[in-house]
Amino acid sequence: MPDLTSTTTSPEPLTRRGFLTAAGSCAAHLAAIAAVLPPATSARLWRRTEHRVVSAEPFARLEEIGDGVWALISTPLGGDRTTLCNGGIIAGRTGVVAVEGFFQRAGAEWLATQARALTGRWPTQVVLTHFHADHVAGVGGYLATEEVTLRATHTTAERALETQPPDPERAAALRDTELLGADRETVVDLGDRRIRIVPRHGHTDSDVTLELLDRPIVFCGDLVWNAMFPNFVNASPAALSASVRAIPRATGMLYVPGHGPMAGGADLDRYIAMLDEVERAARSAYASGRPFAEAGAEFKLPAVLGEWATFSPQFLPRAFEAWYRDFRRSQSPGRDA
Ligand SMILES: [Zn+2]
Repeated sequence: MPDLTSTTTSPEPLTRRGFLTAAGSCAAHLAAIAAVLPPATSARLWRRTEHRVVSAEPFARLEEIGDGVWALISTPLGGDRTTLCNGGIIAGRTGVVAVEGFFQRAGAEWLATQARALTGRWPTQVVLTHFHADHVAGVGGYLATEEVTLRATHTTAERALETQPPDPERAAALRDTELLGADRETVVDLGDRRIRIVPRHGHTDSDVTLELLDRPIVFCGDLVWNAMFPNFVNASPAALSASVRAIPRATGMLYVPGHGPMAGGADLDRYIAMLDEVERAARSAYASGRPFAEAGAEFKLPAVLGEWATFSPQFLPRAFEAWYRDFRRSQSPGRDA
């Protein structure tokens, strides 16, 4: 996993090699999307919300999606990457859970400050859905003021420590992480409300979803992207596809995606259809022996799947590459392709 912060400060045009390096992060991926998304399209995508917006900044807005539950929807396409990923606040009688550490300290601090204004409490726990820097790098913003318990799987904590620029405070917090089960769910009891934290994988080796037991709300981490083409850099696409299908479905369910606006069941359907379309095309290209770079660059999603930033020739090859890895693995089990 390349150092994500380094990719945010390189304005020079990307060479092929430069792209392959830079595209190894969610931030670079978002930058690639922002670069190719027509302004009208991106404005329409990011304006969309059916929920009450309780606070808004250039980098994000906070939407009330249930009683005591708020989704932080990042709006990074204008260039402000304070938060970069989505996350949120889940408040209960005995504690407040913040979801994600965000990209910059100021992002986590903003969410924590919002939590205090809305609930009277600074977050008591922070849950990291996976190790990517845009979800983890800012976690120190929670730690400056009060005691807070960081929760993540062992893999997430370990890979976050390995892959991010040194920050003694964050490193200490990550070493102190209260571990979430990697092969069993963890239930967080907030007195009047409980949250299932379910280990899954596919976007990375270790992802989690947070599923409220009293409300039809799921925080999906980067297993789900809405109206933005996902980053496959560490993905195992077959596992991703299975994990997304295992996310609870019911009428009226709300999904907080890792990136993009709030999603409902129809959005999740569209996302699954999009993943399937990529799989179908990658499978066919692999069978005919075409290089992933060439096949991915030529691939276009059908218009019926709606607005996805798929017209960039740059990031689809990465999805095809991930599928090719999966195909090779399934042909030679045990060999790490
Ligand atoms: Zn990610």
